Amino acid sequence: MNQDQFDAIVIGAGPGGSSCAALLAKKGLKTLLIEQNNKAGGKAMTVSKNGFRYELWPVTGGPMYNSRFEDILKEMGLASEMVLPSHPTTMYYPDRSGRYQPFSGSLFGSPPDAVNQPEASPEVQMAKAMKWLGITEKDLEKIVRMAMEDATLTIPDIERLQNISYDEHIRKYDLPQSLISLLGMQCNIIFERCVEAFEQLGGEVRFTTRVEKIIVESGQVRGVQTSKGTFYAPIVVSNAGIQPTVLKLVGEDHFDKGYVNRVKDLVPSLGLMGTRYFLNRPFFKEGMNIAFSDMTYWDAERAQKAAKGEVPDELLVFNVIPSNFDPDLSPPGKQCVLSSTLCPADPDMKNGDAYWAKLDHMMDRIWPGFSDCIEYKETYGTKDVSTLLREKVLPGIGGECIGLGQVVGQCGDGKPSFDPPIRGLFYVGCDAGGYGCGTHQGIDSGFNVAGQVEMYHHPFIIAGLMDIFAGASNRRSLP
Ligand SMILES: Cc1cc2nc3c(=O)[nH]c(=O)nc-3n(C[C@H](O)[C@H](O)[C@H](O)COP(=O)(O)OP(=O)(O)OC[C@H]3O[C@@H](n4cnc5c(N)ncnc54)[C@H](O)[C@@H]3O)c2cc1C
Repeated sequence: MNQDQFDAIVIGAGPGGSSCAALLAKKGLKTLLIEQNNKAGGKAMTVSKNGFRYELWPVTGGPMYNSRFEDILKEMGLASEMVLPSHPTTMYYPDRSGRYQPFSGSLFGSPPDAVNQPEASPEVQMAKAMKWLGITEKDLEKIVRMAMEDATLTIPDIERLQNISYDEHIRKYDLPQSLISLLGMQCNIIFERCVEAFEQLGGEVRFTTRVEKIIVESGQVRGVQTSKGTFYAPIVVSNAGIQPTVLKLVGEDHFDKGYVNRVKDLVPSLGLMGTRYFLNRPFFKEGMNIAFSDMTYWDAERAQKAAKGEVPDELLVFNVIPSNFDPDLSPPGKQCVLSSTLCPADPDMKNGDAYWAKLDHMMDRIWPGFSDCIEYKETYGTKDVSTLLREKVLPGIGGECIGLGQVVGQCGDGKPSFDPPIRGLFYVGCDAGGYGCGTHQGIDSGFNVAGQVEMYHHPFIIAGLMDIFAGASNRRSLP
């Protein structure tokens, strides 16, 4: 095989692309992985600076065990590298005076709280949780009813729920607002290791190489043109996002108008923006904390107001502290806090300054003394997400946090297919092919799409064997 000819080319080393490429290499396909940045990870990429190592923004995944994270590490022989945080997540919810109060551990029948209450029995823990959220005995009946009904949902019941929002689902139980707010707000050097394993399996990686065009001839993929040359393969798997793939990399002309219109109509997930705070001393004990109130939960109305440019009165605050997962991720005696809040997906959002100022204010209000520890800080927003990772090809889209496949009407049965109407072209990642949330969904898509690509590739192997028997040599057309 010519050195520029591959069985499959994967565009993008995000969670979906890197796991899919690694699995294809393991299945024996000569695979090329092309990534525009200088390292793998996509939106969960890690960087090293001034002795700190961190994701560009707070990215956590869970549950870690019995998950697609564990599956991919096992497939790559890296299972021993799973790291679990030694401190649980702390959540903060305001009391009647508006002061945010912490709760650590899990709710309702939870294990003991490792940080604050090592001896707490599940009953004590539950009583604490009820007091924290202002939940009464009467509310408990409704919560138990919801838990029982959710636990006994059949597959068809779950499928019926895929086209309504979670808000609509839980509202019918008449739950206390504090619980609705909690339910409403409800990892990752792994991808670099995945790409290392991919290379050990014989895969070829080209970093800092941008795919500019996917070559399609007579409805069949032939390869890709990149900033560093042309590469050929009868299979191209794109992790660049459905809209950038169709509208930019392949081009509208190769699809029928109905398909292009459906692609243009896809709605992005919400965005996340925030600040990376670098502290001169450790401030937080936990790996992750979330502060929410009855005003921070984004339903459709709040999302629409924000899309029109209104900054919410109160922000949801989601913090990840990498060195509380692994102390080697920050210099001794220092701490990096990756802080974020919800925002629209628009890469051109105009009111970023107002969000960042409000986030600073909320950090200091919820955790008095926090700002005294700040040595320096860096802000980030939807523009960075789009510039670094996901090309803006439609107005207001490109800075989304997750992708397209975690939105009401675009998940479950309504999820876009990973198999577009061009032979040899596949999508992988959070837009199509997987279930779950965020990074976990990306890896699930990597597994599912790699399986489909292998099935698609087999006819070539069979055709190749037939060619050998028939004495032919270069026949590589699709059956
Ligand atoms: C601020 C923020 C916070 C988040 N927090 C969490 C969290 O806490 N938990 C969680 O699970 N998820 C979180 N996510 C979401 C998660 O990171 C994404 O859902 C996941 O990374 C999407 O994976 P993916 O496989 O779809 O591809 P992406 O991560 O989108 O990666 C796509 C890759 O393709 C590359 N690419 C694109 N175009 C080209 C091209 N033309 N040529 C070459 N390469 C190209 C990009 O550079 C990128 O590396 C967060 C995301 C953001 C932005």
